[in-house]
Amino acid sequence: MSVEVFYTAHEHPQLHATKPPGPSVRCILRYLAEGGANFVFHILPRTSDDALPPALEGRVLRLRKDLPHVQSAKEQAEAFQRHFEPLFAPQHLVQPELIALGDGFSSLVNASLATLERSAGRDTHSLSRHETYALLLADMTFNAPCTGFQMKPKWLAPSPSAPHGAKRCRTCALRASRVAHQRSTPTDAQAFCPLMLVSDDPRDRETAAKMVTSCPVLQRFLTYDASSLFSTLREGQTTFDPRGVLALTADASAVNELCKAMTLRDCTLFARHTSHGPVEARLADLDLKQPAKLPQWAKIEQTLTEQGWYTNEEDPQHWSRELMCQLSRGVKGV
Ligand SMILES: [Zn+2]
Repeated sequence: MSVEVFYTAHEHPQLHATKPPGPSVRCILRYLAEGGANFVFHILPRTSDDALPPALEGRVLRLRKDLPHVQSAKEQAEAFQRHFEPLFAPQHLVQPELIALGDGFSSLVNASLATLERSAGRDTHSLSRHETYALLLADMTFNAPCTGFQMKPKWLAPSPSAPHGAKRCRTCALRASRVAHQRSTPTDAQAFCPLMLVSDDPRDRETAAKMVTSCPVLQRFLTYDASSLFSTLREGQTTFDPRGVLALTADASAVNELCKAMTLRDCTLFARHTSHGPVEARLADLDLKQPAKLPQWAKIEQTLTEQGWYTNEEDPQHWSRELMCQLSRGVKGV
């Protein structure tokens, strides 16, 4: 699905549905992907002879869905700048940049989306007609599997809500419960324990790296060079959520800190390299989680504890000895 739009940068960068007065650049938006909260579009020149304006070169366009739990693009950008930008080096982040949307933009894109065959359950999602901004993000897509990967590092320390003597970290406990109930997600297919990524033993880190990518350059990056990035991520996860969702007080600042920790536990790491250049690695999906999810997070912790998933004492019908999680191998998680 492609749609033609017009780019101007008179006062600020803006995309228009119809040709505005004065100079503008025609470009094409092509549907790339969608998640629970946003659509992502490639931005292409109109023909192979045309060039994109520098502000759009190497960028994708992210448009938020018209769903109650999704913040506006402006709120998303502000939350990123306030909470997450200070934690990481700029070269390790996909930095969102605001771009204004002209009249009729959402209707134009929605009309095109309606013609596209999309996955069941998401095919009714559309753009908000009231949204006046979108976000430009670095395009971290790569052309061949050997030159890049994307992964979710997930929970890099054991859950503070887990019982004493846990044999599974939060990610492994949830994975085991989902596999038993045949509700696996793409992240569950990452067949390694996240604690391996931050293990003191480089052999653990290398084993995890080999599960992520077959590229030796990227494996080496994950085993050695990414360690400080993972450590910073883990530090944020544990500092912002020291006691766990079940011990959370009603205090607004504690709730906000937990939302930050949960965001850091669900972000995506993109990495890629060219034949001569260094590995480029950036964290994305740092969109501040909303407190509306608190009951869901608390329920997961309660279920994982009460049904014995943390301690590998689940119902005999589903039981299998945990072998993957670092905690089951007696490796201390933090
Ligand atoms: Zn684990």
